[in-house]
Amino acid sequence: MTRMIILGPPGAGKGTQASGIAERYGIPAISTGDIFRANIKAGTPLGEQVKEITASGGLVPDELTNRIVADRLSQADAQEGFLLDGYPRNLGQVEALDTMLSATGQSLDVVLELVVDTEEVVQRLLKRAEIEGRVDDTEEVVRHRMDVYAEQTAPLSDAYEKRGLLRRVDGLGEVDEVATRINEALDAATGRA
Ligand code: AMP
Repeated sequence: MTRMIILGPPGAGKGTQASGIAERYGIPAISTGDIFRANIKAGTPLGEQVKEITASGGLVPDELTNRIVADRLSQADAQEGFLLDGYPRNLGQVEALDTMLSATGQSLDVVLELVVDTEEVVQRLLKRAEIEGRVDDTEEVVRHRMDVYAEQTAPLSDAYEKRGLLRRVDGLGEVDEVATRINEALDAATGRA
């Protein structure tokens, strides 16, 4: 039973590492960014609603985002644990998540933060833009997403540290190297040998 959050700026490698962690712990990786992108691609009403804001690198309104997460967390596969990637992203969402979990007697086990150098990840994101063609990976939008992270999401690190849930891991290096560091940190935090 493991309920986790992965924190870190855009381009820190959260998505890649989240898949590995989720597989290892047998829990679903839930990415709000992926949910929004899937809806935009499928042309759903939700997709239409979030298209512009995600393309500009701003945050989708909390009310909408919280509702989507509450719905996702109520599904059967999330009852035995989950890994949230890209949520919560501000202190209001932290509170909303607390409310969702406590309503069913659940609580978080660990918050993992991937620590990276901002300039390094900006370069990483611009490279990813060439490969994946994401509309929110232009330099201007990338810089805006970094600012939004610094202003709204970075404070979450201290908030979870105060609760004793935070584990910081150096996110710099090859995917496998970072994965090894993550596994060590999570095994220690969750009491897995
Ligand atoms: P990501 O793939 O996590 O970088 O998310 C891509 C975009 O989706 C973000 O830049 C936001 O516009 C939107 N988004 C994802 N997660 C959230 C969230 N928790 N709150 C608000 N907006 C979000």
